[in-house]
Amino acid sequence: MEYVLETQGLTKVYGKKEAVRDVSMHVPEGKIYGLIGRNGAGKTTIMRMISGLSAPTRGSYSLFGKTGYEMGKLLKKVGVLIESPGLYPRLSAYENLKIKCIGMGVNPKGYVEDLLKSVGLENTDLKKPAGSYSLGMRQRLGIGLALVGNPAMLVLDEPINGLDPQGIAEVRQTLVNLRDEKGITIMISSHILDELAKVADCFGIINEGSLLDEFSAEELHQRSGQYVMIRTQDTAGTEKALKAIGVEQISEEPDGTLRVSDQLDNTPAMARAIIEAGIGLQEICLKSISLEDYYLGVTEGGRHNG
Ligand code: ATP
Repeated sequence: MEYVLETQGLTKVYGKKEAVRDVSMHVPEGKIYGLIGRNGAGKTTIMRMISGLSAPTRGSYSLFGKTGYEMGKLLKKVGVLIESPGLYPRLSAYENLKIKCIGMGVNPKGYVEDLLKSVGLENTDLKKPAGSYSLGMRQRLGIGLALVGNPAMLVLDEPINGLDPQGIAEVRQTLVNLRDEKGITIMISSHILDELAKVADCFGIINEGSLLDEFSAEELHQRSGQYVMIRTQDTAGTEKALKAIGVEQISEEPDGTLRVSDQLDNTPAMARAIIEAGIGLQEICLKSISLEDYYLGVTEGGRHNG
C-alpha cells in the first residue's frame, strides 16, 4: 500500500457554498502530511470527511487501500484531534486517558503509562489537573487521547495553533517520534508554515476549497531553489553596481531588500561591487525559498521560483 489515504473528487457543499471542491489528495504511509491553507480554505472540512465525522457531498476516499464498507470498518484506525481536545479539566492526564481507554475497551496493563510516554507527559505530576496544564501540554494530551486504540493514522487540525515556541517544539518532537518510532502516518493542518516546513515530509495546498498543489519536501527544495538576499543603505545604487558586474536577475522586496537569482556562487564579487560603489552593505547571504514563499506563489498565481 503506497497511500494510507487517497481521495477522489472529494466535495462538500454547505447550502450553496462549495466548502471543498473536487479534492484528490494522496497521503503516503508513514509520513507527516502538512495541509496548508488560510482560514476558511477548507482544511477542517476535509479532515472531518476523512475521519468519518461528516459525509462528502460528492466524491470518495480510500483508507489503507480499502473503500466502501471495508473502509468504514477501518475508520477506527484513524485517531482524530479536531479543534481543541475535549478534556476533563479537573482530572489528571492519566485519568483523562484512562477514561477514554475504558470507553473504548482498551485496557492492557501499562497502556496509559505508554501513552503518556508517547506524548512526553510521563513526568507530569500525576495529581495535577489537566485544566492547569499549559496549552502545549493540553495539546499533547489531546494527541494522547487520539492515540487510544493504536491508530495507524492521526488527523490533527491546527495542533500548534496558539502555542508558545517551547510548546510548538514539544508537539513537533512528539509528532516526529510517533512517525519514526511507531510508524504512524500523520496529517496535520497549520497556517504556521515555518513550523510545518520543519516537521512535514509532504504538503498539500488548499485554497478556496480546491487542492492547488501537492508535493514532497524534496520536490519543494528542487522546485523552489535558492537566491541571494542583499540589504544595503542604497537599493537603487546596489542594483546599478550589481548590473555593472553582469548580474541580471534582481528583484526588489517591499522592504527594499534585493533578491538575486543568478550568479548564486558569486556572492563575494557582489559584496565587493557594492562596497567599491561606496554603499553601506548591511547583509548579504544565500537563502532557500521558504514554504511560505512557495505557498504565496501558488495561491496568488505567481511564480514558483520566487
Ligand atoms: P480554519 O482554519 O478557519 O478552521 P479551514 O481551512 O479549516 O479554516 P473550514 O473550517 O473547513 O476551513 O471551512 C471552509 C468553509 O466552509 C468556510 O467558508 C466555512 O465558513 C464553511 N463551513 C464550514 N463548516 C460549515 C458548516 N457546518 N456549515 C456551513 N458552512 C460551513
